[in-house]
Amino acid sequence: MSNDKNQGFGTRAIHAGQVADPSTGAIMTPIYQTSTYVQKSPGVIVGEYDYSRAANPTRAALEANLADLEGANHGLCFASGVAATSAVLHLLSSGDKVLLGDDVYGGTNRLFNRVFNQLGIETVHVDMTDLDALKDAMDERVKLIWLETPTNPTLKIADIAAVSEIAKSNNVILAVDNTFATPFLQNPLALGADIVCHSTTKYIGGHSDSIGGALLTNSDELHQKLKFIQLSVGAVPGINECFLLLRSTKTLHVRMERHCENAAKVANWLDNHEHVERVIYPGLESHPQHELAKKQMSGFGGMITMYLKGGLEESRTMLEHTKLFACAESLGGVESLIEHPAIMTHASVPPAMREQLGISDNLIRLSVGIEDVDDLIADLENAICATMKSGAAV
Ligand SMILES: *Cc1c(COP(=O)(O)O)cnc(C)c1O
Repeated sequence: MSNDKNQGFGTRAIHAGQVADPSTGAIMTPIYQTSTYVQKSPGVIVGEYDYSRAANPTRAALEANLADLEGANHGLCFASGVAATSAVLHLLSSGDKVLLGDDVYGGTNRLFNRVFNQLGIETVHVDMTDLDALKDAMDERVKLIWLETPTNPTLKIADIAAVSEIAKSNNVILAVDNTFATPFLQNPLALGADIVCHSTTKYIGGHSDSIGGALLTNSDELHQKLKFIQLSVGAVPGINECFLLLRSTKTLHVRMERHCENAAKVANWLDNHEHVERVIYPGLESHPQHELAKKQMSGFGGMITMYLKGGLEESRTMLEHTKLFACAESLGGVESLIEHPAIMTHASVPPAMREQLGISDNLIRLSVGIEDVDDLIADLENAICATMKSGAAV
């Protein structure tokens, strides 16, 4: 097994956690499509496996691969990103409190506020870019901080190292959802986080063809607890999904480089467009936390948020007129997507909260894919032109 931490990211992406199959020499980790394993004698297992909810060789290879990429000692995979998130919440007990970023992923918000709240776990929303607000929200009942950075859709960047110091001095677990940045651009464990969470559905999978999640940690104690939850709650991924993800991580570094390169060009182009009011992209100097992004990330990612000049009608027209940018929820695939958070991904956020977060009717989110960037820009130009021609323009 290649577990040389001195090797580069690309080498580890392709090799970590994987060996040629001992029985055939197959270079790709086989899909061990089995639920159970024959025992030599009652209770005497042949290798490490007795039942596939507990562990499976294909899943084990993926868990080792993802752990390596995050610089973690341990990895666990789940059936979805929210299944991974809920495994972390199962660490808590009734009466505990969680400090949650104010514009976390909608499904995370729903899980905390509408499922675990009923089990007596209280959620307090905090703007994680405001460290004083975070300190003020701390009390002895707080057991977990759940942080996303960059956030969705306004791409706010929180200082992971600073949040981690506050967490440590209050004896609170810090979990960071690293889905937007991926381990290629940001490693929260190295900045002091206790747990990293991923929706592998997005960039890690990268091909819009599977749902999955993962948790990575360096703590033996947290790993043992989370592994027990994985086994006991049972939200494990299917083995074919694990195989697809092992295939995906082999190109993660190449895809991320192109996502970043394309997004930077699209963001600059939009930023100079007369019909665009404002562009949010961590790589633009106008981004409020641009300096922090430079410090804590090795690239600025593939997500762009833009405010079109106009309102709901203009936005709708733009989304109806892109041809390459498909109008769809989700993100992080090789193909470009465009979506309208107020109507689509963030429709369940109450209007007052949407307004407070800046999710207005002219806000549009782009997941910039790895197509040829000139074609992407031409597609956007065409769609913005259509909004002007519709006469609804400002
Ligand atoms: C999609 C997403 C999730 C949830 O993951 P699923 O795989 O859809 O369950 C969690 N966090 C972020 C940031 C996401 O984008």
